[in-house]
Amino acid sequence: MIQTAISNYLSATGHKALNIKAVMFDMDGVIFNSMPLHAKAWVKAFAECGVKFSEYQVYMNEGRTGASTIDEEFQKAFGRHSTPDEQRDIYRIKSGFFRQMPAPELISNITDVVDYLAENNIARTIVTGSGESTTLDRVEALFGGKFSRQLMVTALDVKLGKPNPEPYLMGLRKLGVAPNEAMVVENAPLGIQAGVAAGVFTVAVNTGILAKNDLLAAGANLVFDNMLQLLDALPSLIGSPKK
Ligand code: MG
Repeated sequence: MIQTAISNYLSATGHKALNIKAVMFDMDGVIFNSMPLHAKAWVKAFAECGVKFSEYQVYMNEGRTGASTIDEEFQKAFGRHSTPDEQRDIYRIKSGFFRQMPAPELISNITDVVDYLAENNIARTIVTGSGESTTLDRVEALFGGKFSRQLMVTALDVKLGKPNPEPYLMGLRKLGVAPNEAMVVENAPLGIQAGVAAGVFTVAVNTGILAKNDLLAAGANLVFDNMLQLLDALPSLIGSPKK
């Protein structure tokens, strides 16, 4: 399965080899189990203005900006665009609900994945549409320096955001590696699209409620059900230890 996925990646991109020296992790749903909280907050915020929005839709839209998500749902519900005021108000309501919830926990076994990469001298960074500085600080603290803020790409760094390849291209530049020297770990369709569009081997870990086919349809090179499966695949993906 893994060798087939690598062969498919090489024929799609024209690269001669995949030689992974760095891994770029998305944050929500990959590092933190924060999507159930975001989903509940979005559904409640939309309900307040009479828009029906399901948790499944939250997962499908993950990575889109708040304004864009709100505008799209207004067009479906009311047949018109949302105003900037409406976008700001609904996003503020959503953020308010989110902040009332407990801080999200780490995704199971993500620490083992990051430790394995660090032990094998594979560089690591976070590429996220989030700009929550407290959460970003938590990543540095919880992983004991295995991630550094200087290498991270956040909402504050990019203009376009996922599904545009911009954030992952910026991640490659910060890490100083070529697309075929990296791997993206994502959980969401738009993030997968961004990784693939940046020309990077993109694996999805289905940590949420989406059907596996939604992740494959977005172009994921491999889809795992959990981090333990990714951990088991890492020796085959990164090759012999690069000490
Ligand atoms: Mg995510």
